[in-house]
Amino acid sequence: MSRFSATVWGARGSIPAPAAANTRFGSDTSCIELRCGERVIFLDAGTGIVPAGRRLYEAKRFCFDILLTHCHFDHIMGLPFLLPLYKDHVTARIFAGHLLDGTTCREMVEGFMCPPYFPVKPKQFAARIDYCDFRPPDTVDLGDGILARTFRLDHPNGAVGYRIDHDGRSFCYITDTEHQPGVIDEALVAFVAGADVMVYDCTYTDDDFARFRGFGHSTWQHGVRLCRAGKVERLVIFHHDVSRTDDWLEALAEEARAEFAGAVVARTGLTLSL
Ligand SMILES: [Zn+2]
Ligand SMILES: [Zn+2]
Repeated sequence: MSRFSATVWGARGSIPAPAAANTRFGSDTSCIELRCGERVIFLDAGTGIVPAGRRLYEAKRFCFDILLTHCHFDHIMGLPFLLPLYKDHVTARIFAGHLLDGTTCREMVEGFMCPPYFPVKPKQFAARIDYCDFRPPDTVDLGDGILARTFRLDHPNGAVGYRIDHDGRSFCYITDTEHQPGVIDEALVAFVAGADVMVYDCTYTDDDFARFRGFGHSTWQHGVRLCRAGKVERLVIFHHDVSRTDDWLEALAEEARAEFAGAVVARTGLTLSL
C-alpha cells in the first residue's frame, strides 16, 4: 500500500441519489479521504463523510483534518452527523477559504448548525476542534511534510481547489467549478500541472453544458483538456449529477477511457494509490 492514497466516500453532486439504479457508483455526496502516511485528511464533508468517520473511529484513529471546498449543502451536510466530532478524545481541524464576505470557518459552521435548521449546535461537539481560515492562493502547511496549495475556483458563492503534495506526489481536488467554453484557464493548468491525480467537477457533458451555463459546474471533456494541458496522469470524473444512473456512468467510463486512458469515474469505495 502506498504511503499516499485517496478513497472516494461520496462522488455525487448537489444532492444524495439513493436509488436501485445507483448502487454501483453510490449515492453519497462529496467526500474523499486521503491517507498521507499516518495522517488522515478529508476533502469535503458531504454525506460520504458519515460512514468514513464511523469507520475511522472504529479503527481508533482520533485525529484528522477536513478541507472544505465550500459550504454548499452537498459539501457540508455530513458534518453534523460526523460521529468522531461528538467524542472528547478526538482532535480535528476544519479548514475553509472560500468565503467571500469575511465570514470565518467557525461562523460558517455555527451558521448552518443551529435551530431551526438543525437541533444541535457545534458547541455540543465534544472533540477538540480548530477552525482554520485561509485565503487562496495561500499554501496551508498541514505538517508532516504535507502541503495543501489552494486555488480560487469559479463557482457561485466561491469555492477552493486543492493540490495536496506529499512524498513527492500530488493529488488535485478541483470541484465545484465552471469553465468558459473554448478557453483553457492557464492559471488552473499551472496549478494542477504534473499532478498524479486530478479529481474534477464533471457534472455535465459538453453536449448539455450550454443549458447549464452559470450553474458553476464543468464537463468531463474539459477535465480531459485540463489533464492534457497540465500533463496530469489520471482524471477522476466526479460530482455526478443526480440523474446519472450506474448504466449511464458505466457508459461514460468507457467513453472517457477511450478519449483519455487515465480517466476513471469516481464511485464510492474507489481507492487510488499515488
Ligand atoms: Zn457541489
Ligand atoms: Zn457548489
